[in-house]
Amino acid sequence: MYGRVESTTRVTPAMVRVVLGGEGLAGFATPPGTDAYVNLAIAPPGAPYGPVFEPAEVREEQPQEWWPARRRYTVREWDAEQGLLTIDFVVHGDEGVAGPWAAAAGPGDVLVLEGPSGGYRPDPEADWHLLVGDESALPAIAASLPHVPADRPVVVRVLCDDPDHELPLETPGDLDLVWLHRAGAADPAGLLVESLRGLDAPPGRVHAFVHGEADEIRQVRRHLLADRGLPRADMSCSPYWRRTMTDEAWRRVKRDFVAAMESDA
Ligand SMILES: Cc1cc2nc3c(=O)[nH]c(=O)nc-3n(C[C@H](O)[C@H](O)[C@H](O)COP(=O)(O)OP(=O)(O)OC[C@H]3O[C@@H](n4cnc5c(N)ncnc54)[C@H](O)[C@@H]3O)c2cc1C
Repeated sequence: MYGRVESTTRVTPAMVRVVLGGEGLAGFATPPGTDAYVNLAIAPPGAPYGPVFEPAEVREEQPQEWWPARRRYTVREWDAEQGLLTIDFVVHGDEGVAGPWAAAAGPGDVLVLEGPSGGYRPDPEADWHLLVGDESALPAIAASLPHVPADRPVVVRVLCDDPDHELPLETPGDLDLVWLHRAGAADPAGLLVESLRGLDAPPGRVHAFVHGEADEIRQVRRHLLADRGLPRADMSCSPYWRRTMTDEAWRRVKRDFVAAMESDA
């Protein structure tokens, strides 16, 4: 499956919104979860195939140097009527594959993808909701908030560089939103967990969504399970990326990291 870029918009200094459309998205399934993601396949520059290709076939037929890079990105929005798929990419400098691809993308460019999958959706039975993450989790947070029941307390803590990196968030819930800014912070990686330590939580059962940078997420998870006694089943938690590691390097150690994280609490 593939989409053709219809438009790109720089929604913040570090976030590019790419809208994909076209016949290559025919049959795209409505995502089941509000955190649904697709697997992107991005060919290396000069690849002797494409721009439309089957990732499995390429891996069978080409030497490894030509295999496409795999990256997971959230379905920010799927407009089934118009056949338009929106993905918000964090642009984090010149390093990497997907960030630079999005920064340079223009109308007509092709993006090969597979999916979607994903499982979180705000539980309508929960007494309140908690959504925590950095910019990489912002698309999932923004896509989930409209599904929080009306007037239900929803606490959102998002980490970003500074106020220019904030985006409007909408929900029918009773929103308690704080943006945490790395700029000027003594310990930027500790901002998310510190913001929760001081939280006067609404009463009752929470349904939590905690995703983003691996070490930051791990601290938050430990706090919620060990200090606040959340049942594991009431939290969706996964480390989306790891600082200083490419996604390839991260995938090689992710299983061990998650096993260690699971043994924290
Ligand atoms: C299920 C899932 C959903 C995701 N949804 C989104 C999404 O909607 N939008 C989004 O932007 N990301 C999302 N991510 C995270 C994204 O897949 C990773 O950030 C990925 O590593 C980016 O690939 P890259 O090719 O740009 O950089 P890589 O080649 O993987 O890494 C290059 C360098 O950039 C650093 N880096 C990677 N990501 C970031 C970042 N966000 N901020 C700062 N530095 C970074 C790495 O540590 C490394 O040093 C999601 C991840 C998962 C698992």
